[in-house]
Amino acid sequence: MPLPSFIKKELEERKQSSRLRRLAGSETVGVHVIRDQGKFVNFSSNDYLGLACDDRVRRASMACTDRYGTGATASRLITGTGTYHLELESRLAEAMGTQAALLFNSGYQANATIIPALLNRSSLVLSDKLNHNSLLQGAQLSMATLLRYRHNDMPHLESLLKKNEGQYGRTLIVTESVFSMDGDRADLECIIKLAEAYGALVMVDEAHALGVLGRNGMGLCSGKTGIDLVMGTFGKSFGSFGAFAACSAEMRDYLVNFCGGFIYSTALPPGVIGAAGKSLELIPEMGAERDRLARNAAYLRKALKKLGFKTSKSDSPIIPILIGDEDETLSLSGYLQDQGMFAIAIRPPTVAAGSSRIRITLSALHTRQHIDELLNALINWNGRK
Ligand SMILES: *Cc1c(COP(=O)(O)O)cnc(C)c1O
Repeated sequence: MPLPSFIKKELEERKQSSRLRRLAGSETVGVHVIRDQGKFVNFSSNDYLGLACDDRVRRASMACTDRYGTGATASRLITGTGTYHLELESRLAEAMGTQAALLFNSGYQANATIIPALLNRSSLVLSDKLNHNSLLQGAQLSMATLLRYRHNDMPHLESLLKKNEGQYGRTLIVTESVFSMDGDRADLECIIKLAEAYGALVMVDEAHALGVLGRNGMGLCSGKTGIDLVMGTFGKSFGSFGAFAACSAEMRDYLVNFCGGFIYSTALPPGVIGAAGKSLELIPEMGAERDRLARNAAYLRKALKKLGFKTSKSDSPIIPILIGDEDETLSLSGYLQDQGMFAIAIRPPTVAAGSSRIRITLSALHTRQHIDELLNALINWNGRK
């Protein structure tokens, strides 16, 4: 049977513009990524604390699998809720300083299904322009009116709230706390104030702050009141997989009853819960790793600026090296690979046209020497042009 013509056509267009995405197999070991072409220092992983290969986390995951098996057997509301799920949820709530927490199978699933559970056709959702695709999906699926405010532009957010005051049943403001492509931070204090003034709900995605920033590494929302729902993931600093919402007990009850992504999906398996539980125990104690990570990031940002590279408003271990032109960005990424470093090029449609970049993510496992090697390679690349 011939394929529908759009598939061929769309793929061909991607290929022509050098934007065709392809999967490449790799093995990640600590701070390295191993591919057919060799072994590279990994500057593109989200494993900020190195927990993905930590022996303690690995053993806890295996112990939980040994005890409870490989699968949860059903969704949470059927027979899939293990005591291990409930225990992790109450520990998460305590660590996050919220009344309750509810596990989700991934951050993507949480974002894409929580927003539709909270909103309907007569609601309004205000979303930062640079929010993650999963938040955008959630907003679109909710059928609410979606307005995207300019990135971190609080006067713009306020003007949209003012203009639409009283016209919608429910209003939700949604933002990331640390933005995944620019590494900058949201003005949470201001968002909370505006939400209060205009009677809006607030949802914050802490995917990149959790483990890295805030009190005990528990994110930028920790210790703040006025946030209705915090979404955190286990796929980044926690070094495994899965996600959770931290919220009030009533909000948790509501999601258990109305959030399709929670209700209709098989519960996370024991091995994943064992790993996340161990990471949750370790993360508050990892102040030394967080300090090293922060020092590494400050050092790299400063050195990049000195070399004349723009790093946007990065204020986290995510450091974009803005290049602009797509081909040049690709060629820099290729050059770094030739030098034994893996740093992915991020291009449209993931980021806006003309803002192609090398996106560096640092880990506590990086040494000063790794970073100096990256800087030397950039100096040489600058010199070749
Ligand atoms: C990674 C990420 C997600 C998705 O989380 P997963 O658990 O990987 O599905 C959601 N939001 C942001 C900002 C992310 O960076």
